[in-house]
Order: sequence, then structure tokens, then C-alpha cells
Amino acid sequence: MRLTELFSKTSKQVPADETSVNAKLLIRAGYVDKVAAGIYSFLPLGQKVIDKISQIVREEMNAIGGQEITMPVMHPKHLWEQTGRWKGFDVLFRVKGQAGEFALGPTHEEIVVPMATHFIKSYSDLPKYVYQIQTKFRDEPRAKAGLLRGREFLMKDLYSFHADEKDFEKYYEKAKVAYKNVFKRAGLTAIETRASGGTFSKYSDEYQVVCESGEDEIIYCPGGDFSENTEIAAVKEGKQCDLGHGPLVHAKTIEVGNIFSLKDKYSSAFGLVYTDRDGKQKPVLMGCYGIGISRLMGAIVEVMHDERGIIWPRTVSPFDAHLIAISDQGSETSKEADEIYQKLQKAGIDVLFDDRNDVSPGEKFADADLIGIPARLVVSKKVGKGKVEIKERDKEASRVVSVEEAVKFFGN
Ligand code: ATP
Ligand code: MG
Repeated sequence: MRLTELFSKTSKQVPADETSVNAKLLIRAGYVDKVAAGIYSFLPLGQKVIDKISQIVREEMNAIGGQEITMPVMHPKHLWEQTGRWKGFDVLFRVKGQAGEFALGPTHEEIVVPMATHFIKSYSDLPKYVYQIQTKFRDEPRAKAGLLRGREFLMKDLYSFHADEKDFEKYYEKAKVAYKNVFKRAGLTAIETRASGGTFSKYSDEYQVVCESGEDEIIYCPGGDFSENTEIAAVKEGKQCDLGHGPLVHAKTIEVGNIFSLKDKYSSAFGLVYTDRDGKQKPVLMGCYGIGISRLMGAIVEVMHDERGIIWPRTVSPFDAHLIAISDQGSETSKEADEIYQKLQKAGIDVLFDDRNDVSPGEKFADADLIGIPARLVVSKKVGKGKVEIKERDKEASRVVSVEEAVKFFGN
């Protein structure tokens, strides 16, 4: 993609009410555009990041048997009344239409469970797993943290259906592995943390990323064998870890994922039962598994940035390389930069090419740092013919290599 053709531009301006680091950087770099508190448009750069995160999540969910579906955003009121959540869900958006009232889906048990009654009848229909990646709506009272707390945001939600507790537990452990894979692949360290389970089960497991700007708090063992959300933690910071890993640490964190046992709470509400081998009807047991896709994008920016801008992990960066030409229009170097751009693309490298003529090298470098693509390539007279200067976003040193070596750097 040529920068001169890109829909968005970098900017020095951020809306006055925007205080979070992730929103400020993402707006300035042209990833998102603010519409209102907690409501953003995703621009081409931002859409690419969302797509990459979604793809990682999709691959890991498919690997544990998840089948992708899309459920509606509009949920008829009677379904939410049936679970007592029309009144009971504190951040539910309720809208009135000509055909009655609707909830805008903040989560999808009220849709997925009645749907499952159409297909799950017998023990031979179990287990089953479905998921979607979809926009969710929550009337959050404080939406001041950019992508970390949207009123409209992207979530992956998977629902599992089981014949018995043992089968549920087996799958729950598999889901934990998939979750660890997702966060690791997205470049984040997420701590699996015991948290409250709400009204229907004692505990849930959250995936928490240590970050000063997070709204959650955990007490954890740096050795990795213990972590609890402070909402349930009985232990205090500084207590020695039972396994000899030293004192437990307190940290502020961002919840990027949450997995739950739902037991038969929703199956009972909607009559989701199956006929077992013994001919008896039994309730289907369920689990639900959420990942905040857009929150994850915000969390990556909160954790990986410096005073100059974003530092994307390779796996979720909008482009593999940021190519800069330092040259006058029509010059030999400018023609060569063009050729290198073509060559890199032919080698399967996704390149953002800063081909602007009216901008100083300093401004180009500043924009590259702001946008945060992990590798920057510079073509200039000084670097020399057939060569590029390569610099990684998270390192200070650069080196001059041949175009072929640059291609190899990207592993192609
Ligand atoms: P929180 O406690 O932060 O409000 P939650 O526990 O209510 O979140 P869940 O219902 O567990 O959220 O939703 C699953 C995942 O969706 C969360 O782990 C989080 O990553 C994401 N998420 C929840 N609310 C928001 C939001 N307002 N904006 C962006 N992502 C969100
Ligand atoms: Mg949660």
C-alpha cells in the first residue's frame, strides 16, 4: 500500500476528552477514528490489526473444535425476560422498534441456547461448540479507556454444550490451552487468574495483562502458579508463595479474556435438554468463553509503545514492513524505491510504502515510529543502489543490507 493512497493520515491532534494512551496513539497514527465515548470507527490500518487478531483467535478456536457462526445483534425482549436479564443485566442497551422492544446483544446466551434446542436432542448430539466474532453493545457508565472499554466493541464468544460435568471439565482445560496460545501469538503475556463466577458458578478464569492503566487488580505469584482477582483473593500481597517462588505481587491489569462454567443456568431457562442413554431427559451443561478482540488491540498498544508511538508485535502488525524513500520526485533513487517496493511485494511481504514527495525525512521517520510497524526499510542515495537500511522498531541500531537479504529477514 502506498501511503499517498491510504485513506487515513497521521495527525498531531487528539480529541480533548481522550485521555487513554491506546486511544491517543491509535487516533494519531490513523488506526481508529473517534465517534463518541466508547465508540470508534476502525480505519484501514486498524481493520488490518483487527483482522489479524481475529484470525489468530479463529485458528485457535477451530483447533478446539469450534464452529464459526454469526448470531444477530438485535435480540427480542421476551428472550431476555425468560432469563430475568431484561431487568437484571445492568449495562443492557434496550431499543424500541415497530415490532416491539429489543436488546442489543452484550453477550449471546439468550440466542445461542434457544437455537441449540433445534439441534441438540440426544446424547449423540453432544458435545458441540460454536463461536462468533461479533460486535457487542454494553451501556458502560464510564467509557474513557479507548478500546479497553467500548460501548460498542468486538468480542469472540464461544459456547460449549456437554452431556455431563466431566466432559465439560475436559473441554474447559482444552480451552485454557487455546487461550494461552491466542495471547502468546498476539504478543502478550496474559496471566490466568481465578475470579468470581457470578451467580451460577463459584469461579471463573480470567486472562489478565499486567498494565498500570488496567481497571482490574490481581494478586499473583511471579513463578506462575497462582493468580487471583482481588475481588475474591483472600491472600495479601507479600505473602510467601506456597511453592517457594517468593512473595506474591499485586498488579493492576486488563482483562482480555474470561472463561466460565454456565452449568445448566441457561439450558434450564430455555428447556435445552437431551435424552441420555438411559432414556432419561437431562439438562445440557454449558461453558462460555470470551475474548475482547478490540480490547486486546488496545491492550497491546498500552503495553507496547514508547514516547514516539506504537510498537506492534509482528503477528498483529498491519504491515510487515514500512518502506521509506528519501529522494526527490523522478530521481534515480525514487525509481529504485519503487522497484524495491514491487520486489518486496512479489516476495509476499506486505509493505506500507511512504512515497510522499512533499514531506521531510524527519517527518517520515516520526510517522513510521508512530504507526509502529516492526521493521522499517529506508532507500536513499546514501544507503546505495540495490540496498536498504533496515531498522527494527524496538531496537535502536540499524544496518544496511541488500534487497535479497531484506527479503530473507522477513522469512520469505
Ligand atoms: P469488565 O469486567 O472489564 O467489564 P466483563 O467481565 O463484564 O468485563 P465479559 O462479559 O467477561 O466482560 O466479556 C468477555 C470479554 O469481552 C472480556 O474478557 C473483555 O476482554 C471483553 N470486554 C468486556 N466488556 C468490554 C468493553 N466494554 N469493551 C471492550 N471489551 C470488553
Ligand atoms: Mg469478565
